[in-house]
Amino acid sequence: MEDRIYLNLKREEKNIPIVFVERIEKIGEYLASFNCSNLVIFTDKLVYKLYKDFIDSLQHSYLYLFDEGEESKSIESYLKAIDYLLDRNVDRRALFVAIGGGVVGDVVGFIASTYKRGVRLIHIPTTLLSMVDSSIGGKTGINYKLYKNQIGTFYQPEMIIICPQFLGTLPKSEVLSGIGEIIKYGFTLDRSILDMKDRFENDVFEIFQDKILAMQLIKKSINCKVKVVERDEKESLLREVLNFGHTVGHALETYYNYYFSHGIFVILGMAAEMILSNILFNFDLSNLDFLIRILEKNSIKLPQRFEKSQIISIMKYDKKNINASIRMVLLKDVCDYVLGYEVNEDILYEALDRFEKIVLS
Ligand code: NAD
Ligand code: ZN
Repeated sequence: MEDRIYLNLKREEKNIPIVFVERIEKIGEYLASFNCSNLVIFTDKLVYKLYKDFIDSLQHSYLYLFDEGEESKSIESYLKAIDYLLDRNVDRRALFVAIGGGVVGDVVGFIASTYKRGVRLIHIPTTLLSMVDSSIGGKTGINYKLYKNQIGTFYQPEMIIICPQFLGTLPKSEVLSGIGEIIKYGFTLDRSILDMKDRFENDVFEIFQDKILAMQLIKKSINCKVKVVERDEKESLLREVLNFGHTVGHALETYYNYYFSHGIFVILGMAAEMILSNILFNFDLSNLDFLIRILEKNSIKLPQRFEKSQIISIMKYDKKNINASIRMVLLKDVCDYVLGYEVNEDILYEALDRFEKIVLS
């Protein structure tokens, strides 16, 4: 396979290279190829601790450290970083580099798009989820009050650098979270990802011992996201397909107060949405068994409370539901999807009832 994929945005006449490098030592060469007044690196404290030698070896002017975790996507955290840049007179010709998971990528993307009306940005995603999902597509954002990603922009980076070596330090729950999004691509856009069903069921860690296989999965996933973003950059219709598993998944994530990493809720959400797809479109439930086996193998158990009406009311407030009707992506078959299907509340209730019996028993 090639060592780069291009994201081709016609609207902006921009070709964004997604570069694959095997070893982190190579990353410096790519950064050095950009002319800039100041190279500003943003990362979080945990990633810095794990990759201190590498990060220190980059010829940066400034290094800004966020606390790790979703809290760093707050307005306060955003403003603190802006103050840091202003205090140091960082100008528009700087180059910002975001090294980290989706949290760092999202907040730094927002900083880069707003600071002095836009500074060039490079993403170096370090979690599986950020490699296959959040670093691609240009969505940036911060949270506001209780709501996630309420303030944000679309802002494309100059380059995205993917180095699977970062995955070596990732905890199992974060690997599984990325796998959730990868499986989502398998069910919606590229069924060949599901050829590795057995490997997914066995041990998610094992997949990433095999570097070639890991790279293949990451590239296939990125290709899925790139294709959708190229056709539908600003989230209207097609981009909705990426929300498979997310309507119920997000509601569960809120209901259980972020008890698991995001992609694990996506697996749970896909399970519930497959049950709905079965009720409405006779979707083959052997696919659901596959998800259940992954959850069991990784001892994913939801806490024992499941108030269906509350979960449904959370779904109604999902920002993607126009006029509070519940719309979602459902499947007739693998990679045969229905976008924006308006689901009747009684049927949703029935599906959640079946989901509860299967997943919580
Ligand atoms: P994260 O950024 O919080 O990272 C998870 C944890 O892993 C953090 O504690 C981090 O410090 C740590 N970590 C990062 N790299 C590591 C490494 N190599 N080794 C060990 N630990 C490491 O979580 P995430 O799952 O990467 O991203 C979630 C965020 O992404 C959410 O805020 C979500 O809203 C956002 N997101 C954005 C988009 C988008 O299109 N912009 C898409 C999906 C998700
Ligand atoms: Zn997701």
